[in-house]
Amino acid sequence: MTWCLADPADGYYIKQDPFGRGGDFITAPEVSQLFGELIGGWLADAWRRIGAPSPVNLVEAGPGRGTLMADILRVASHQPGFRDAVQVHLVEISPVLRTVQQETLENCTANKNWHDSLDSVPDGPVLLVANEFFDALPIRQYVAGASGWRERRIGLTDTGELTFSLGPGTLDLPKAPEGSIAEISPASLAVMERIADRIGRYGGAALVIDYGYSGPATGETLQAVRKHDYVGVLADPGDADLTAHVDFAALERACGDCDVTCHGPIGQGEFLLALGLLERAGQLGHGKDETVQKSVQAAVERLAGPDQMGELFKVMAVTSGQVIPLPFTTD
Ligand code: SAH
Repeated sequence: MTWCLADPADGYYIKQDPFGRGGDFITAPEVSQLFGELIGGWLADAWRRIGAPSPVNLVEAGPGRGTLMADILRVASHQPGFRDAVQVHLVEISPVLRTVQQETLENCTANKNWHDSLDSVPDGPVLLVANEFFDALPIRQYVAGASGWRERRIGLTDTGELTFSLGPGTLDLPKAPEGSIAEISPASLAVMERIADRIGRYGGAALVIDYGYSGPATGETLQAVRKHDYVGVLADPGDADLTAHVDFAALERACGDCDVTCHGPIGQGEFLLALGLLERAGQLGHGKDETVQKSVQAAVERLAGPDQMGELFKVMAVTSGQVIPLPFTTD
């Protein structure tokens, strides 16, 4: 997965801008400004709840085209205290997307910095958002066999085609029917732990939004998408997007040793509706012609509809100490 997505020469994210109708997939911030505006409102509110630290590092992991950050900063520009406190840090491995982000954010006056990883973001209070970032981090798969779990690996056939095989040795996982697949993402857990460590140490809040599950691991979720269609995971290495569903319960466990509280995950639909999705959509459509109103309505449906992004996509928040962010409650 790392080679396919991030190889310095041939990696999927390194070579191209994969978003939009002409690209391979569309993400929530690209669907509508509604998404980024509500996230911006959430961040401004969370900033106050953590004591309004100034300066504060506003970090986005995997910012894509920079659309989400641009929408967040537009909201921030209406809140002088927050606007003046934020130092923007974009964690992005793709040179192509960095250029797109620079263009998108050209007119935002905030202080902007780019990083290869979270490690070079300066210490201090942090507000972090990661939309469809964790799904791009590599996973390992294990297959249940008669003699225990073995790691699924990728090798070559005699004719040079990619093929799945099994690694040597067995792994100590609970017994499961033969052929069951379990996934873990050590890379995701390491990133989550680093985020939680910063939040616990310096104060802050993070929002992780992604497609995934919060119960026990549910089998194989590795998938490849090209031109808005699923393709075989071994079919187009470097030319298809490879992702896996995010295991939110595992992310929460990764925060375990830090002085933070995890909230959720809840469905993206529930989250956005609680933050005022319908009210903001009403404002956006107000007084506009029918085409605009229909497109706002379609965006609401896409972002929050239970059969669209509303339930499969989930939102988890991590805050310092006992801080409770919107729209989560103590129960
Ligand atoms: N958040 C954006 C883009 C999601 S796609 C949106 O919602 O539209 C995943 C993003 O993460 C891309 O910008 C990709 O280049 C970046 N990315 C993937 N793996 C990464 C890694 N290991 N470190 C930093 N960025 C990464």
